[in-house]
Amino acid sequence: MSKAPPFNDTLPTADLDWSAGDSVRSTAFGDVYFSDLGGLEETQHVFLAGNDLPTRFATLNEGNIFTIAEMGFGTGLNILAAWQAWNERGHDQGHLHIFSVEGFPLTPNDFHAAQDHVAKRWPDLAPYAERLAAAYPALTPGFHTLYLAPDVTLTLALGEAGSMLTNADFKADAWFLDGFSPALNEGMWREELFTEIGRLSASGATAATFTVAGAVRRRLQANGFEIEKTPGFGRKREMLIARRQVTDDFMDAPPNDPAPWFSLSNLHRPSRNETIHIAGAGIAGASIAWALRRAGREAIVHDPSGMAAGASGNPAGLIMPRLDLGDTSARQFYRQAWLHTVRLIEQLEKETDTEIFASRSGLILALTLEDTGRHRALAESGILPPGWLELVDSDRARQIAATDMILPDDALHLYLPQAGTIRPARFVEALLQGIIIRNEPAPETAAVRIEATGANSIGLFGDGHLSASLGQIDILDMAPPACAVTFGNYIAPLGDRLVTGATYDKAPQGALPTPAPDEVRSLRNVDAASAVLPGLYTAQVNASRAAWRCVTADRHPVAGPMPDTGRFLSDYDGLRTGVKGPYPLATWQESTYALTGLGSRGLVTAPLCAAIITSMITGIPMPVSPDVMAMLSPARFIVRDLKRNVH
Ligand code: SAM
Repeated sequence: MSKAPPFNDTLPTADLDWSAGDSVRSTAFGDVYFSDLGGLEETQHVFLAGNDLPTRFATLNEGNIFTIAEMGFGTGLNILAAWQAWNERGHDQGHLHIFSVEGFPLTPNDFHAAQDHVAKRWPDLAPYAERLAAAYPALTPGFHTLYLAPDVTLTLALGEAGSMLTNADFKADAWFLDGFSPALNEGMWREELFTEIGRLSASGATAATFTVAGAVRRRLQANGFEIEKTPGFGRKREMLIARRQVTDDFMDAPPNDPAPWFSLSNLHRPSRNETIHIAGAGIAGASIAWALRRAGREAIVHDPSGMAAGASGNPAGLIMPRLDLGDTSARQFYRQAWLHTVRLIEQLEKETDTEIFASRSGLILALTLEDTGRHRALAESGILPPGWLELVDSDRARQIAATDMILPDDALHLYLPQAGTIRPARFVEALLQGIIIRNEPAPETAAVRIEATGANSIGLFGDGHLSASLGQIDILDMAPPACAVTFGNYIAPLGDRLVTGATYDKAPQGALPTPAPDEVRSLRNVDAASAVLPGLYTAQVNASRAAWRCVTADRHPVAGPMPDTGRFLSDYDGLRTGVKGPYPLATWQESTYALTGLGSRGLVTAPLCAAIITSMITGIPMPVSPDVMAMLSPARFIVRDLKRNVH
C-alpha cells in the first residue's frame, strides 16, 4: 500500500494581522510572513542569492527545466521575486517550475489584499502580483497547477507539509525553506520533512533559509546537504545555505510508490531531441500538446480525421464535476480535474481571445430522497469551498435555471456557479493554436508516441478493459434553461436552443460502424429530459450528433506509460496465486504513453491527465499523488487480470 497518507480534506485558512508595519503577521503563529525591514530585499538576499539563482538562471540552457521548491507559500512574495529574477535572466531559454507548500492559505480576500500591498510597495512586482492574484486557486486540499506564464508554472500544494511532500514527485534544484521560525513553528522543520526534502532533491540541489537553528542544520546534514552559515538579512546576524552532495548514499531515494507495478522508477525519460508524436487531435491529444508546450516541448499531433472529429466535436459539452463522497483517490482526482479545467478554459479564453464557454453555472438535480441525502453529505464534507458549491431548494433551482422544472418539494440540489457549458471544438482549437497537426496516422515507429485516439484505442489492453459507447445529443428548438442542468442526463443552453443528452449505447462486436444519430435515441433523450422539463415532446429536433466514446470498465481514465506486457506477465506471475512479494519495480514500454478511456467526462478530465503525462515525459513536478497515478495507470488492467488469474 501507499506510504503516502491521503490528503486531509480540511484546510484551515490563515489569520492575518495587518498592523505589523511594513509586513503581515500571522496571528496563529505569532510571526511575520516577511521582514518588516524590507520583505523583497530579504527574499532577494536569503532565498534568491542564497540559492545563487540569478547566476544559475543566467546560465541555463535551452530545454532545461529549473525547479524551485518552497516550504511556506504564504503571501507568495518569494515566488514573485523568483519569477521577476527569472524574467531578468538575460535570455529566453528554459522553463521554471515552482512547487510551493502551504498548509494555512490566505483567504482569497486576504491574498488579493496582500498582492495589492506588494504591488504598491514594490511597483516592479505589480504585474507579477496581478497575475498571481488572478491565478489564486479555489482553496481545496491537494495540488493546483497554475500556468503563470508560457515558461513559468507553479504547483501550489495546499495541505499539511508532511502529506504534501510525501505525495509529491519532482527533483528540486533549489529549496526555499521559509516556514515560520522553528522556535514558533516546529511543525515546519520536522525530521521527516527533511527526509522528503532529500528524496525530492536533484543532485547538486541547494537550499537556503533565514534560520541557523541547530535542528535545521543537523537535519539538512543528515539528508546529504553540506551547510554553510552566511550573513543574514536585517536584524538576523546569520542565515544558512546548503548544497546537496552527490554521493551514492543519498542518490537513489525511491519515490513513495503505492505498489511496485505502478512504480515509475524505471521509466525511461525521452531525450529532448526525440520528437513526440501524438495520435489523436481530440481533447486528449490537444491537451497533451498544450501541456507539453508549457513544459518547453513541442509535439506533432496526427489525426486522419482532422481536429475534434470524434466525441470532442459535439456542438456543446458540459464542464461539470464528478463529486465523490469518502476519502478516495477518485474524490481527489475528479475535483482537481474539474478545478484545473475551469481555470484552464478561463485562461485560454483570455490568451486566445476565444469564447469557449457558451454559458456559466450548473445545477446537479436531486430527484430522489437519496439524491438529497447525498447532496447534503457532499456539501457537509466540504468537497468544494464556499462560493464554489451551494445547496439550493427547488424554488431557487428553478430561479437559477430560469425554467419551470418539475422538481420534488423537499429536494436539495447542488448549484455550481463556476460550472458551465462549452463549445468543445473551440476548446480543442484554442489548445492546438500554433501546434503542428498532420492529417495522417501517427508513425508506428515514432520515438515517443502518445495514444490519444478515443474509441479507436479500444484494443489497446486486450479484451474487456476498454469499450466503445455511443453518445447521442440532440438540439431542440425550444427555450433552454439558463444554465447546464444534470440529472443523469442533462439539459443545457446552446444559444437560444436547448441541448440534451446523452445516450450510452454499447458498441456491437467487431469494427466500429460510423456513428450516426437516429430518431429512437432522440426520443430516449427527450423522454429522459421530460422527467424534469415539460414541453420537450412538442419541440422540433433541430440537429443531432452521435459519437463513439471510449470507456473503461472502472470508469476512470487511462493516463500513463504503457506497461511492457511480457515483463509484467513474468515479473508479477505470483499475483495469480496471491504471493505477497517482494516484486520487482515495473518495466514500461520505451516512450509509449496512453491517454484514453475518458468516457463522457473527457472535456473535464483530459487536461489534468495531460499534465500527468507531461510530468512523466519532462520531469516537471507531478500534479497528482501516487494514489491517483495508480488509479489512472495503464498497468492496472494487466495487474487486475493477473490477480484474477485470467491471462
Ligand atoms: N514564503 C512566504 C511569503 O513569501 O509570503 C512566507 C512564508 S511564512 C514565513 C510561513 C508559511 O508556512 C505560512 O504561510 C504558514 O501558513 C506555512 N506553514 C506553517 N506551518 C505549516 C505546516 N505544518 N504545513 C504547511 N504549511 C505551513
